[in-house]
Amino acid sequence: MRFFDVAVTFTADQFRGIYRGKKYHEPDFAEVLNRAKDYGCEKIMLTTMSLTGVEQNLQLVREFPELCKMTIGVHPYHACEIYADHDEGSKDGHNTHLEQIQQLAKSLLAEISSPLAAFGEIGLDYVYLDCADKDTQKRAFRDQLELATQLQLPLFLHVRESTADFISILKPYLPRLPRGGLVHSFAGTKDEMLQLVELGLDISVNGISFRTDEQIEMVKYIPLDRLQLETDAPWCELSSNDTKINQFLEAARPLPPSRKHNKFILGQMVKTRNESCTIERVAFVVAGLKGVTMEEVAEAAWRNSCRMFWQT
Ligand SMILES: [Zn+2]
Repeated sequence: MRFFDVAVTFTADQFRGIYRGKKYHEPDFAEVLNRAKDYGCEKIMLTTMSLTGVEQNLQLVREFPELCKMTIGVHPYHACEIYADHDEGSKDGHNTHLEQIQQLAKSLLAEISSPLAAFGEIGLDYVYLDCADKDTQKRAFRDQLELATQLQLPLFLHVRESTADFISILKPYLPRLPRGGLVHSFAGTKDEMLQLVELGLDISVNGISFRTDEQIEMVKYIPLDRLQLETDAPWCELSSNDTKINQFLEAARPLPPSRKHNKFILGQMVKTRNESCTIERVAFVVAGLKGVTMEEVAEAAWRNSCRMFWQT
């Protein structure tokens, strides 16, 4: 089986050995990628959270072009950064932060085999309002959707506790975005998921999509032709003591050995730091919940992800 992990945040501290602000080990992403390949994960999308993350992701995509592509955009957690020092600029419709993203994206898209595969993460997250309040998030979402219509990349979307606002902002833009998009790390209700599918969007799930009975019901109903898989590493790992999902993991291969971050050894996983080699387990859980084979789920997700993000 082969997998395309459509959401990995390589720029997160954990991948450079930093836990709660303190550095415990050297970056080990090459090892993370080796383990991913051992478990059939052949493609990875690196999600970009903010302008400052572009360069880090780009370096990795350049180093592993067969394996990685990336998104470009500003995550709702960082939406305030777009407007941080542009009080004057925004009056006449210019925003240098957005213009920088636009220029970067255009130059990367002009490359023969572009490192960019999607525009995002963009969207709304009403759980974390620390950086940007709801109005700032909505403004950033609209402004970036406007930008997306110029770039014509598929969208990489994030939505949490905000589906109604998310849909009302996004819907009018979709006719101008024919390549559609993916709502990643989805953990909402079945009803919300079906509304997003109705808009033509794909849905991807990970370890946080199976926590409540409501979410489990939602996963059962994701159409196979709209399903994608992800780990959202280094976060969102499958909870190993959840009896609702454990029953589906019996056929999964055991994971490589892991150690706590303060006992790190190069070549081993780090406890509670998720990584792409666990994607097979996500596929097993989705298959178990849907009552189909893991192979069916893996093949459908692979096809959907490659169609949307990996045009060669
Ligand atoms: Zn996200």
